[in-house]
Amino acid sequence: MTVLVTGGAGYIGSHTVLALAQAGESVVVIDNLSTGFSSALPEGVPLFIGDAGDENLVEGVIAAHNVTSIIHFAGSVVVPDSMRDPLAYYRNNTMTTRNLLNAAVKCHINKFIFSSTAAVYGNPEQMPVSETAPTRPLSPYGFSKLMSEIMLHDVATAYGMSYVVLRYFNVAGADPQARIGLQTVGATHLLKIAVEAATGQRAKIDVFGTDYPTPDGSCIRDFIHVSDLAQAHLSALEYLKQGGASVTLNCGYGRGYSVLETIEAVRRASGRNFVVQIAPRRPGDIVTMIADTTRIGATLDWKPQYDNLGTIAAHALAWEEKLLAERGATDQQAVSA
Ligand code: UDP
Repeated sequence: MTVLVTGGAGYIGSHTVLALAQAGESVVVIDNLSTGFSSALPEGVPLFIGDAGDENLVEGVIAAHNVTSIIHFAGSVVVPDSMRDPLAYYRNNTMTTRNLLNAAVKCHINKFIFSSTAAVYGNPEQMPVSETAPTRPLSPYGFSKLMSEIMLHDVATAYGMSYVVLRYFNVAGADPQARIGLQTVGATHLLKIAVEAATGQRAKIDVFGTDYPTPDGSCIRDFIHVSDLAQAHLSALEYLKQGGASVTLNCGYGRGYSVLETIEAVRRASGRNFVVQIAPRRPGDIVTMIADTTRIGATLDWKPQYDNLGTIAAHALAWEEKLLAERGATDQQAVSA
């Protein structure tokens, strides 16, 4: 009765692995470590370094570890990269999911949880956006995830698999005990950039547009704490174990904060001032993105614990400071070696 987590060494994957391990679940991870870190895994969780689309590897791990369910995170997540190199996204996301599903079918896996994204909605006509809204992605990234959703649906129908698709809104923050967090160098996400500015790693933060039709002119996002999102995966697994029907669920808090409010939350949490510069709009940005959370609330036994922007900012900052201290220690060792 083991859960196979692909991409378990990545940002959201590692928080989910930690939550699963703490809940006493048996977990095994496949990760190619292209963006993940083996150090993000709790002690004792087996890691197989390889591709989630390598069917031989997946089938071997399933057989050796008595895997009965799969949580599939592995994939590429940078929207502008997907514009520059769409085929890489269709390979890493869509083709990998296809191969993983093929292995899952061969091994009679009947529970599957898939990391999807609010990017499948494109620019929604109604806000908050519900799961029944039309899916019109604006990027190869969004399409690569949507195509994976469609495959999963078709496979589940054909082979009697049950699935939960989780469509993430803006994931942020870090483990409240700062054991793990977002380690990616060169991350483009607002909160990560704001904490990098607050910790002196950046000279400033740009606000991409303050002329949007919102109360303060900046874009609005629904930030979800990564540890709450991890718990949503545990709840989804429990739902499937209890025989729940296949379902697609938004993962957010149903509340939006503007870019300026988010930066202010980081400034307040850090007690430090940093330069905030108004910059032109970033092409492709959606003005407002807020989840309709009615369905997840009605479907899963999931109670968010960190539904507070100040808490998310504080946890992201604590993690960033720990990362900085560790990097400083490593640099010191390199200097004295
Ligand atoms: N943003 C910004 N400055 C930055 C990074 C992001 O103003 O340095 C804005 C971005 O234009 C968008 C919002 O923050 O309106 C969220 O962007 P992010 O890349 O974090 O996530 P997205 O919603 O695009 O997936």
